[in-house]
Amino acid sequence: MKIMKFGGTSVAHASNINKVIDIIENAQGSGPLRPSESVASEPKEKIVVVVSAMSGITDDLILLANLASKMDLKYKIVFESICGRHNQAIKELINSKNTERVLKEISKKYGELEEIVKNIFSAKELSPASLDRVMSFGEQLSSYVISEAIKGRKMQCEFVDSRKIIKTDDNFGDANVDLEKSYKLMGDHFRRDALYIMGGFIASTKDGVTTTLSRGGSDYTASLVGAALDASVIEIWTDVDGIMTEDPKKMKDALLIPEISYEKAEEMAYNGAKVIHPKTIRPAVLKSIPIYVKNTFNPEGTGTKISNANEISKN
Ligand code: ASP
Ligand code: MG
Repeated sequence: MKIMKFGGTSVAHASNINKVIDIIENAQGSGPLRPSESVASEPKEKIVVVVSAMSGITDDLILLANLASKMDLKYKIVFESICGRHNQAIKELINSKNTERVLKEISKKYGELEEIVKNIFSAKELSPASLDRVMSFGEQLSSYVISEAIKGRKMQCEFVDSRKIIKTDDNFGDANVDLEKSYKLMGDHFRRDALYIMGGFIASTKDGVTTTLSRGGSDYTASLVGAALDASVIEIWTDVDGIMTEDPKKMKDALLIPEISYEKAEEMAYNGAKVIHPKTIRPAVLKSIPIYVKNTFNPEGTGTKISNANEISKN
């Protein structure tokens, strides 16, 4: 079984989400369905897909919460634009007979978010707990939209609320995961050989209060799920070919590192290499699960394999 995590750029809008679903479909080995086939394909392997918020949405949510706390009515524009981006994706991804149902379902989420933001507005203050609740909507919304888009592509999949299976303390913004409790909950939840889809980054306290795992923390979610389920591999799908010698966005001659040890990858992540969240490595090391960093926009590329130093080929 494997874990596949897709970052914000990979799920930024409908056409990228379709690329993501192509990759998932290939991983399932089912191949694209012909239009005449109407039965949803049975998954052949257990796959858990972890997704980030659509790119920019977490920043927008933070802006939304801050504007509301300052009683700045511009929060309404930001709110509308967040809803608009998800509605647009739904219209492009979901076939017409299901659009209304999905829009209605997602409207309930918008309503919940609006309620929270109105409370921040009247309180004129933004607590770390409220900010986490607001930020969590990025992943709540993206994971729901993507799960419906997958179903629309005739694949069976189960939508999972990450907050029910990842438990943390109340250190809002950078909550500490209760590994024992979370691994048990995940082991109990992911029993069937099925395709599951969940949001990264979000979790909750033992009392069910929403928390987040720090910015960029969806990678960490993926590796937690991988460790809980003894996955054979954790794939981090991003918008660059893998871990590079330099930041490819700054240096044109950056080279792809095909294989790297957990230690070296962790050191690079803590030193600011943006590709993976530094906390991603630990859970994988303890279970010796290789992590592959791959490019959604160049899926044939080899990517970077992160594993035990003694497994790295000497050539
Ligand atoms: N959406 C969150 C962030 O922007 C988490 C993530 O993308 O990994 O920080
Ligand atoms: Mg990231």
